[in-house]
This record gives sequence, structure tokens and C-alpha cells, in this order.
Amino acid sequence: MQPREIAALLHRIGLNDSRIDRQLADENSAERAITRWTEALTNVPATLPDGSWDVGRAVRNYYERKGGDNSAQYRPMEPHDVLAAWAPHRTALMQRHTDPAPAVDPDNVAAYLAELRTGRTAVATGQATPVEQRALTAAPIDPRIAERLHQIGSPIPEQARAQLAQFRPRAADREALVRAGGPDPLAVACTWCHAEPGKPCRGGWRPNGKGRRIKNRPHDSRIDLAAQQQGVAA
Ligand SMILES: [Zn+2]
Repeated sequence: MQPREIAALLHRIGLNDSRIDRQLADENSAERAITRWTEALTNVPATLPDGSWDVGRAVRNYYERKGGDNSAQYRPMEPHDVLAAWAPHRTALMQRHTDPAPAVDPDNVAAYLAELRTGRTAVATGQATPVEQRALTAAPIDPRIAERLHQIGSPIPEQARAQLAQFRPRAADREALVRAGGPDPLAVACTWCHAEPGKPCRGGWRPNGKGRRIKNRPHDSRIDLAAQQQGVAA
């Protein structure tokens, strides 16, 4: 808090506590009080943007405290009472802060740590809101990675794809057919069993109303149609 904010804070306390109010009446003692409180509360903000902290509320809470502990009302509020009220808010802020990587060369350890500390201090003193999300890679894909993906042709490496083939026979057949320069029958609808594009051909009905069988190999007419449409030999 700045001296101006401290002056307002002390005025606020003075409304509740005539002992503080008397300190402010004399210019010299008012200045001393403001200096003392400013030094003690230099790292405490007057408010937080989200409204979760307001030093004025801390004052009200201090003087409205009721019940078993009435001792507070027998001594004027002190800067350490504000610090105690602020402490849990500071902890909460730091728990939300994720310490984003500073935008300086990480090999420059001194500069890196200084930047990190500046960021933390700014959050701990309420001057900056915590950075809660870890940074996402917003940059476009690295050209070397793009080139490699283009060469592989698929994010699934060829070796893994071969091992997966036994669990996805229809997709494996389709890929083998296309790779061999043949047509891609699943790209067209089947005029025989009326399977939609992308869906496998359907065979006979299964017993007990369990629907139709799925054919691993598309109907010949579908292969012919695909070959014709795609301009390749079936
Ligand atoms: Zn079919």
C-alpha cells in the first residue's frame, strides 16, 4: 500500500477507534503513523481485483469481532493485524500461481531467477493476478516436425500400425489395398448392401435379432464402382 492508501486506511480505523483518530489529529504523529504503517504494509495491497480482499473489510472484521475473544477491542489495530488478515489471501494467490517460464534465456540463470522472483512478488503483493494456466504451445508446428509427419503420412508410426493391423482387419485391408495402388471401396457407398461411405459392407442376418454380419471384404460391385470412380484398376 502507498502512503496515500495508508492514510485512508488509518482514517478508516480512526472511525472505529478514537485512539487512532487522536494520532491523526496531530500532524507530526499522523506522519509518523503513516510512515510506520506504510513500511509494515508495503507488500499488502489495499484490494484485490477479484474482490476477495479489501483492507477496509479487514478493519471492520477486526473491530466487529465478537464472542470469546474480546481482547482485540481493548487494543487499537496494529499493522501486524492487517498482515495476519492478509496472510491467507497471499497463500491462496501463491497456490494458484503456476510460475510461467520467464521470457529470458534460461541459460542466463541470474536473469531467469530474477524474472521468476519478480513474477512471484507481483502476485504475492496483489499487483499481478496469478497465472493459473500453464502456457499452451500457441506457436505453429515446427517445420521439421511437419516435414517428418508428412514423410510418415500418419501420426501412428508404421511399426505400431503393423502391430495394430490384427485388431483392425478391415482398416488394414483397406490400407493395404490403397497402398498397392488399388481402389478404396469404402470411399463409395455400396449399391449391393447399401453400406454408407466409410462403413463396411454388411452380410447376412445374425440369429436372434443381433443385426447383420459385418463383412471384412467389401462386395465386389463396390470395389468395381470405387475403381471406376477413382480411375484405378480393381
Ligand atoms: Zn456391400
